[in-house]
Amino acid sequence: MADRMLQFVRLGQQTPDKRAVPERRQDFDEIYKSFEPPRAAAQASRCSQCGVPFCSIHCPLSNNIPDWLKLTAEGRLQEAYEVSSATNTFPEICGRICPQDRLCEGNCVIERGFESVTIGAVERYITDTAFEMGWITPGRPRKELGQSVGIIGAGPAGLAAADILRRLGYAVHVYDRYDRVGGLMIYGIPNFKLEKEIVLRRWKLMEEAGIVFHLGAEIGPALPLATLRERHASVLIATGVYKARDIGGPGVGLPGIVPALSYLTASNRTGLGDTVESFTDGSLNAAGKNVVVIGGGDTAMDCVRTAVRQGAISVSCLYRRDKANMPGSMREVKNAEEEGVQFIWLSAPEAFLGETGASVTGVRAVRMRLGMADPSGRQSVEPIEGSSFTLPADLVIKALGFEPEDVHAFGDKRLEVSRNGTLKVHHKSFMTSVPGVFAAGDIVRGASLVVWGIRDGRDAAAQMHEFIQSNAATQIAAE
Ligand code: FAD
Ligand code: SF4
Ligand code: SF4
Repeated sequence: MADRMLQFVRLGQQTPDKRAVPERRQDFDEIYKSFEPPRAAAQASRCSQCGVPFCSIHCPLSNNIPDWLKLTAEGRLQEAYEVSSATNTFPEICGRICPQDRLCEGNCVIERGFESVTIGAVERYITDTAFEMGWITPGRPRKELGQSVGIIGAGPAGLAAADILRRLGYAVHVYDRYDRVGGLMIYGIPNFKLEKEIVLRRWKLMEEAGIVFHLGAEIGPALPLATLRERHASVLIATGVYKARDIGGPGVGLPGIVPALSYLTASNRTGLGDTVESFTDGSLNAAGKNVVVIGGGDTAMDCVRTAVRQGAISVSCLYRRDKANMPGSMREVKNAEEEGVQFIWLSAPEAFLGETGASVTGVRAVRMRLGMADPSGRQSVEPIEGSSFTLPADLVIKALGFEPEDVHAFGDKRLEVSRNGTLKVHHKSFMTSVPGVFAAGDIVRGASLVVWGIRDGRDAAAQMHEFIQSNAATQIAAE
């Protein structure tokens, strides 16, 4: 069947169609349509089946991409699903929100000269089809091991670990301070990138597999880590990073200047049917407002595009570097530009304008220029004297990135942290400085990606299994 492959020489790249801009500005539905089966097979057949597949090497999960592309091209979708789900806990989610241009697709060898294989879209298509066909069943174990594990955090890292450990036969208890499962996949990432039904569907499957979720359970003074450690043979910390980086300057405390995650969470909760007072009272709602978002990462892109959909009068994004140096995905910048967002590159806020006690009315910003590169190669930025300008703003959203909260709030001073507050783990075993307590995801890496959370969660789960089983073996030997 090899003749079905290598079609890149005659067939161009076709990504799934996007919904028209006027339509997608009006709602929060995903903007990419699904592949039609013939197009998915044709696009998969563009793969040249490389002996050394750089796509897989640059996928954090080392997905066996050429194999599932070939199976898709041959119409063997159930087998394609088996291969793709063997290395990825949530392929339908990664297919939607991985920054493929920086990972698998950006390293596809046919990218040079021809455009890359549309790997992410095919991965999404395979798993969406598997759900439609009923091929995906709860990951129940063949036999129960009679031991339990505790997982703190129901984001991608915690869930990936929970899935692996449950399949191995552990009683798995996941604790999360939120009232829903998914972490940033449920309350951070907007519906137009990842429809919430997709996350809720996984939650249901995991419950059916026997995973127990303790929601509204915050690990801290009332429920310290030590209590969980006593309850379970091993514990995983996968609590992510939530402390928003802040900004200074005159007027920064004015009402109407809000943190990005509060804004996105209010929007996502409203979309899920919750009544959110800060949304209904207008304080976290962009409708009828001039909105300025500060930052250049994916969070900033999610805020500007949410504001468009909420019916803002104008939406501007201030970023202190240029487009080439922004950390956000280029695909999302393009989507935002199409939807009418104004990007003001090389600009930073100087002051926030408004009467004391009244809401913000504007942002005074200054133009920046790129300076010398630091040892990492990143250029510094410096303000251009006399270049100040003012933007009207009724809502200013701060999207400057996230840092870890203080992990010592979990009540164990033995937990070692790095200089930037992330949890220190042994690089191979994923164990923290507290015996039997492991950690994975953003709380170890710093703000990262869903796909890296999945990878770390899966690896940490394997290490927890080894730890518990070797402890059990030692105990038996001692008896
Ligand atoms: P999280 O997803 O943050 O989950 C941590 C969980 O721990 C949460 O549910 C939290 O409630 C819980 N928790 C925290 N503290 C406690 C406690 N003390 N007790 C109990 N529970 C606790 N990545 C991509 O790959 N693609 C994207 O498009 C993308 N877009 C993003 C957009 C936004 C707005 C943001 C903020 C991030 C985005 N990311 C994206 C990054 C991605 O969401 C994160 O890297 C990923 O979710 C990290 O997974 P995690 O499991 O480590 O943590
Ligand atoms: Fe690409 Fe992400 Fe899928 Fe890996 S998981 S193949 S990086 S889309
Ligand atoms: Fe196929 Fe591109 Fe991967 Fe090569 S690098 S195996 S062409 S997807």
